[in-house]
Amino acid sequence: MRAISFPIHVLPAVRKKGFVARTSTVVISDGGSMVRADTMPASLTVSRSLPDLTAEELAAWMVSHGYNAAHAPRVLRELYEANGERSHPDARMPAGLKELLSATFSKEAASLAMRQVAGDGTGKLLLRLGDGRTVESVLMPDYHPARAAGCVSSQVGCAMGCDFCATTQTGFERNLTAGEIVEQFIRLRREARTAGRTLRTVVFMGMGEPMLNLRNVLAAVKRIADPALGALGWRQVTISTVGIVPGIEELREADLGVQLAISLHAPDDATRADLLPMGKRFDVQDVMAAADRYQASSGRITTIQYCLLAGVNDSLAQARDLSRLLHGRDMHVNLLRYNPTGLSLRGRTFAPSSMEKTDAFLAELRAHGTVAHLRRARGPDIDAACGQLRRRAAAGGELGERESVSLPSSKCGTK
Ligand code: SF4
Repeated sequence: MRAISFPIHVLPAVRKKGFVARTSTVVISDGGSMVRADTMPASLTVSRSLPDLTAEELAAWMVSHGYNAAHAPRVLRELYEANGERSHPDARMPAGLKELLSATFSKEAASLAMRQVAGDGTGKLLLRLGDGRTVESVLMPDYHPARAAGCVSSQVGCAMGCDFCATTQTGFERNLTAGEIVEQFIRLRREARTAGRTLRTVVFMGMGEPMLNLRNVLAAVKRIADPALGALGWRQVTISTVGIVPGIEELREADLGVQLAISLHAPDDATRADLLPMGKRFDVQDVMAAADRYQASSGRITTIQYCLLAGVNDSLAQARDLSRLLHGRDMHVNLLRYNPTGLSLRGRTFAPSSMEKTDAFLAELRAHGTVAHLRRARGPDIDAACGQLRRRAAAGGELGERESVSLPSSKCGTK
């Protein structure tokens, strides 16, 4: 991967010119209160990749170097295409511009560190970022034979501390840039193409809490959905949250018309707060009220994510409580099968609900008028739960492209 390097003393000037997206992050203290802090680690090397650029930024750069701005959308459009190699081969592009582009911008915001492909075509990618950190993205085949969904990460690690989640066990490292998110989309689109499918939807359910990196997430979504770039469409994007109420409000104000998913996992505050520390900060009623407002303004039906954990949140009484909570709300419940991740953050061992319990929970929801579905279990044998592959790689597992690991399908995070 090519990169432009700047000595650290020129970074402020470089940033001023817009060549570095300043990133602020939010960390959660033990008490559950939110603290804003600019924790983006200083780096001696700054690289700007094409996925990091908007069409306007690239056009301005071209003009500043004496070239026609009209080349910019063509270069980026090609980058977002599902087929072909990444290059700058536009025949109508002046040779000098082509060389300058190649010398100035890397074509990729991340490289492939590991790839696992399941027997049903589900693929899990571990991407290495410019600073050596890694994130996961997953391609999930749809029931429709020609379609697939992509699951992308928004942060490196996660500060949310959901007790059943593998991602959070390595802590929070940093927010992803918009370009690093776009890179995941581009790679998943090509992965789908290779599998003979079309990437139809993208869900932010991988590593991290999207609402705590919303500026970069929205910047990426705008490029992914933009008819002139990724052309995926707003409705085809789902942003999932553990229930960060200010983030839901900000998303509503952004008015993009994307889908919202809430990781509820319990209908009551006590159980929820025991599983999700954020449940102490935002109670169930507050989260649902924010979802109501988002739904009223966007017209999109909210999805309620509910990961069934044996003996924790899978009783029939809890199913009835969930139905009661959703009564009068036009929302859908997605029941998820838990992929065991070993010892939890707080030393517990969670287990997936039995199929019998799962079916009974689903039937109870439906009997009480709730629209609910069971999401297909995706292969535990490709480190399928969010964060597992990365954790194994960090623990010394081999890194490199591994294809056809003869595995079934994969599942992204439980958000
Ligand atoms: S489930 Fe999502 S929000 Fe919770 S710790 Fe894991 S990555 Fe973070």
